[in-house]
Amino acid sequence: MAISRRDALKYTTVLAASATLPGYASMQFEQPITKNLDRKNIKVIVVGGGWSGLSIAKNLKAFSPTTDVILVEQKDQFVSCPMSNLWLVDRVDLEFLTHDYLQAARNNNYTFFQATATGMDKSKKILFTTNGNLHYDYIVFAPGIDYDYSFITDNPELEKRLRQEYPAGFKPGSEHLTLKKKIHDFKGGNFIMTVPAGNYRCLPAPYERACLVADFFKSKKLDAKVLLLDENNDITIKEHGFHTAFDELYSDYLEYHPNSTIENIDLDEKIVETEFKEFSFDDASFYPHVKGAKILETVGIAKDTVFNKLEGNINGLTYEVIGHNDIYISGDARPMGFSKSGNTASTEGLFVAKLIANKINGIVNTPWQSPTTLCFSAVTMSPERAIFVNSMYAYNKEKKRFGFATPKTSEVWKGEEGLTNAKAQHDWAIAMYRYMFEN
Ligand SMILES: Cc1cc2nc3c(=O)[nH]c(=O)nc-3n(C[C@H](O)[C@H](O)[C@H](O)COP(=O)(O)OP(=O)(O)OC[C@H]3O[C@@H](n4cnc5c(N)ncnc54)[C@H](O)[C@@H]3O)c2cc1C
Repeated sequence: MAISRRDALKYTTVLAASATLPGYASMQFEQPITKNLDRKNIKVIVVGGGWSGLSIAKNLKAFSPTTDVILVEQKDQFVSCPMSNLWLVDRVDLEFLTHDYLQAARNNNYTFFQATATGMDKSKKILFTTNGNLHYDYIVFAPGIDYDYSFITDNPELEKRLRQEYPAGFKPGSEHLTLKKKIHDFKGGNFIMTVPAGNYRCLPAPYERACLVADFFKSKKLDAKVLLLDENNDITIKEHGFHTAFDELYSDYLEYHPNSTIENIDLDEKIVETEFKEFSFDDASFYPHVKGAKILETVGIAKDTVFNKLEGNINGLTYEVIGHNDIYISGDARPMGFSKSGNTASTEGLFVAKLIANKINGIVNTPWQSPTTLCFSAVTMSPERAIFVNSMYAYNKEKKRFGFATPKTSEVWKGEEGLTNAKAQHDWAIAMYRYMFEN
């Protein structure tokens, strides 16, 4: 089933429900720590200006106009991971991916505070940042992911080299710039990319990237191959769409190797060892396992889980940290098994904003609402053709687990369907950027 432009926009209109934005509420930052405790407005800090944090800040301000909302983000501009695979192969430019935090804050009446969160005092309700300390009544951590290289190596020297010379490109910024240069400078031979196990960020993105890079090498008529080493036993999502693309479009340019758990990487000899095989490479990008971002561990709200050792210990239905009902975790840093994707983080952010606004207004039992996963993947560059998955989640009380409730996919990239999906992918991104940065 293809998705039309109207449908793509319809999926995102759920997000735009919080339309009327209120007047500006003033902010005051505490420096030093304990001043201004007789403030009259409730103060909410959102740590992390990604897809989740931007949605929370905007919607909280819309739901609770008199609340002071401060978005604490370490970067001075937003660069989108969604659509970045198309940027790697020159189908969109960097300007399309890059957006202005100040504009988002002005348009939606919250305060952008550029700083890195470094710690907190939970009993005094103070967040420590590189730019001063902030008092809060409620705080949400939406800091995204960090990499966990321990599944590849326990050698710090090798980890340092992997981070610097062979970055994953699953966090925006310099990693993406390095990766793009590698792809564009590649002269031929094997280009290794990897897929980790666990609930890694954006399940389809490594397969989308493999398709686009193979297509790019093909367009340059290089004697080159993408070797995609997957720790999983098969493609983890939209498998029909990606398998058919691998087989029918890229058999000369892409080799897919499932069950490829990395046992050793020799960067000097340029060899990757897995349990059964060795692969030599000319260049590479290694995607390690992921975990909730470091700040969760620093402030002591992280917990061991099976795959993601440092993700937050929260109530999956209320997003509150267990034992601290004034602290929330949202977005890719959450421990629930939702897809770690932008649309999921953004729709979830709308619900978290509602939870907090309700709590501020004395409503404590807000029924759980599912986030929505809508994730497009391009499979060819020219013309652009894409596939997608779209689903909400259901909570299984007995198993205490979430699973896809309404999965809908379009995995046919051939013909009109693939072209329509590609158009919808662009329309979705435009609608989401507008939603986050305009009012
Ligand atoms: C290549 C690629 C393609 C993708 N494609 C899609 C797609 O097509 N569709 C889709 O829906 N999703 C896609 N995703 C996934 C999507 O990007 C993520 O799921 C989404 O960014 C998660 O949002 P988040 O708010 O949880 O985290 P992020 O967007 O990573 O935001 C976290 C923010 O917190 C900040 N931060 C972290 N620590 C601190 C601190 N201590 N102090 C201050 N700030 C801090 C970071 O700087 C960052 O800005 C893709 C991802 C990648 C990498």
